[in-house]
Amino acid sequence: MKSHAKVVVIGGGVVGASVLYHLTKAGWKDVLLIERAELTSGSTWHAAGGMHTVNGDPNVAKLQQYTIELYKEIERISGQSCGVHITGGLMLAGTRERLDWLKMAKARGRYLGMDLEIISVDEAAKLFPLMEKKHFKGAMFDPIEGHVDPYGVTHAYAKSAQIGGADIVRHTRVTDLQARADGSWDVITDHGNVHAEHVVNAGGLWAREVGRMVGIELPILAMEHQYLITGDMPELAGKPEQLHAIDFEGEIYLRQERGGMLMGTYERAGVPWSPLSTPWDFGQDLLPNDLERIAPSLEVGFAHFPALESAGIKKIVNGPFTFAPDGNPLVGPIRGLRNFWVACGVMAGFSQGGGVGLALSRWMVDGDPGADIWGMDVARYGDWTTLAYTNAKVRENYSRRFSIRFPNEELPAARPLRTTPIYERLQAEHAVFGDYCGLEHALWFAPSAAEAEDRISFRRSNAHPHVGAECRAVQNSVGLLEISNYGKFDIRGPGAVEWLSRMMANRVPAVGRIALTPMLNDRGKLIGDFTMCRIAANHVFLVGTYAAETYYMRWFERHMPATGVSVRPCAMEYVGLSLAGPNSRALLQGLVRDDLTTAAFPFMSFRRMEIGMVPGYVGRVSFTGDLGYEIWVTTDYQRALYELLRKAGREHGLQLFGGRALNAMRIEKSFGSWAREYRPIYGPFEAGLDRFVDLKKGDFIGRAPAAEEKESGGALRLVTFKVDATDADAIGDEPIWHDGKTVGWVTSGAFGHRVDYSLALGYVPSALAKADSGFEIEIIGERHKAQRLAGAAFDSSGKLMRV
Ligand SMILES: Cc1cc2nc3c(=O)[nH]c(=O)nc-3n(C[C@H](O)[C@H](O)[C@H](O)COP(=O)(O)OP(=O)(O)OC[C@H]3O[C@@H](n4cnc5c(N)ncnc54)[C@H](O)[C@@H]3O)c2cc1C
Repeated sequence: MKSHAKVVVIGGGVVGASVLYHLTKAGWKDVLLIERAELTSGSTWHAAGGMHTVNGDPNVAKLQQYTIELYKEIERISGQSCGVHITGGLMLAGTRERLDWLKMAKARGRYLGMDLEIISVDEAAKLFPLMEKKHFKGAMFDPIEGHVDPYGVTHAYAKSAQIGGADIVRHTRVTDLQARADGSWDVITDHGNVHAEHVVNAGGLWAREVGRMVGIELPILAMEHQYLITGDMPELAGKPEQLHAIDFEGEIYLRQERGGMLMGTYERAGVPWSPLSTPWDFGQDLLPNDLERIAPSLEVGFAHFPALESAGIKKIVNGPFTFAPDGNPLVGPIRGLRNFWVACGVMAGFSQGGGVGLALSRWMVDGDPGADIWGMDVARYGDWTTLAYTNAKVRENYSRRFSIRFPNEELPAARPLRTTPIYERLQAEHAVFGDYCGLEHALWFAPSAAEAEDRISFRRSNAHPHVGAECRAVQNSVGLLEISNYGKFDIRGPGAVEWLSRMMANRVPAVGRIALTPMLNDRGKLIGDFTMCRIAANHVFLVGTYAAETYYMRWFERHMPATGVSVRPCAMEYVGLSLAGPNSRALLQGLVRDDLTTAAFPFMSFRRMEIGMVPGYVGRVSFTGDLGYEIWVTTDYQRALYELLRKAGREHGLQLFGGRALNAMRIEKSFGSWAREYRPIYGPFEAGLDRFVDLKKGDFIGRAPAAEEKESGGALRLVTFKVDATDADAIGDEPIWHDGKTVGWVTSGAFGHRVDYSLALGYVPSALAKADSGFEIEIIGERHKAQRLAGAAFDSSGKLMRV
């Protein structure tokens, strides 16, 4: 084994082999893969090898498309067959809701260039005669589905990488990793050591153990997974290969395996494997079968596909593979560790392995993944993902693998975990809570305890009238919202303002003022949106998206000077309450000594105040677009502040409102939100953030490409639509049509209760951004007329915020 390499990739499963290949393809040749046993010795060797392009996250779906197209390339380079069978696939719907879900998936696929088709039960049965029609309502056909040979794919990646200059060492286990002061690593193995500039953890089933070598606990857990292969079936003899099929309601997947069928299940009673640590002596082993556990699924399978029952079971496979709490991979650099990368938690290695390798190699070589991979960025998780949390969430995710997730559905596992001091108070007011980063926050308030439950639906739900009442209370009197679930950062030091000015696209505001700002990457794309609140000359309170806290800190730390600035995340130290609506000033004025008139405390002011006995920071700003205030206090004061505002609010018509109403109101104002309108695939001018980009203030990260985008106008434009919707509103990811063609996609949608019509925000090509007619938005398979609005639906001049 060589003693030095630019990169050591730990793990020769399908993911490590893909990373290795992509690194050579990106031009890094001095790369070494170290494998404990033979290649494929983790979960890869016993995989069923199925692959498909459909994924709930369109950006992950794109990487899945890429993976499947890649197989031809690695076969050509390596001469190794990947055993690709593109049979086409059917997703079978057993209920109306599932058919709606498939229609939405098909619609999403439309703007991703996927050729999906909704077909009737009769058409499905012609394509897949094994099914018993009476159990189904319809299906979606995907021509690009099939399966591969796991051994062939892994070796094709590995050989292609070797041809590109990579080395592979087998039967060598990495036992420790030691960081050097210059950011490089000593990779300690049982056959000598390697000095590497970068290390990639592609340890699959052992990724947790490799993480522990560098002091991190990755949120992944292996689950046992079983599939069976039937005996040869006369129904298949002499016929073309059967399609892949997913029977969602039966929670099973099927494909042909030689003369029989392979049938796998994600059973409700899924069982974690080795929950605390993975034994090193686990090799190409299988786990004991547990037919009893999958008996309910088998029963449904035999009813839905009767020919299987008489075919008999030839073989059962039970093997473990790993999941993150949301079922998406964990990819990227780890905050706080230099040159340490992960590519693990990949539960669909044969659909996703190529995309993971591509994104990670670009990230390592170019400093940026080159695509929007937020959905699989390891930095989407934070401190709350303890071992037990991960265990609860992974089990839930596994058992729901084939379940529909409704847009208003909150999942119950691992809850409540994190709460703020007013949690019980809000509960007593019949709050329906959502979970965000493990933190409970109120979504809406029901009139009684009995009604405090979301009836899950793709259409307007039981919450609709109550959310409407909350919006109207904000519009007509005053509303109170808990805003603790934001990320907050305390930035201080003599170099703080200069540093922040370089990090952010807008000018740092004067002391006592607030400024909104996008944050851009080197390519001038959006990687964050923040509220900068200047407390003092050398002190800024920064508010942004909580889910991206680790993601932001990783970026901040990468650009941190040696001295002069400190950045401290303080999300849970400062919890908040917001007042919004025309009576908010009178309410707050009764509790503070400061003069709140617009002359003394205008829009976008920020100041330390005493609210009754409570010390806090007050900003005059509201995401609802009304006259409003955000009040930040340390956690110990939140309950007192809440009681004070509630009591004083009585005479001003104060009503609680939640996250759903806030979302509807910010859409009425055309205000974007991180991970929806603002993502690294959009530039700030495309996103309509022109007024928050100050090209004259001096240099900042992403300035040059942003200036170019301003000059060219950018390719896309964020637009607000009034939608002729009936009983269902857009939620995001629906296609936007223009003159009969799909031209863009929705990023958010909701019913605007203050304006009394349905709304959607979405991106269209710049050339169409001024088109006055011809738009339609597809909601659950139906196209609805959409009128482009020239500005925000609610108070487009912004007068109300400034009164
Ligand atoms: C029964 C079953 C059916 C499946 N069906 C499908 C399917 O149809 N389609 C699909 O896409 N996916 C399927 N999967 C999932 C698929 O197997 C995984 O997504 C994939 O194998 C993950 O690959 P990996 O490279 O991340 O991990 P692994 O395959 O676990 O590879 C990790 C490798 O790292 C090595 N390693 C770990 N630590 C060290 C160390 N310290 N030193 C040296 N080497 C080390 C291990 O020996 C191992 O070879 C299935 C899985 C199972 C169990």
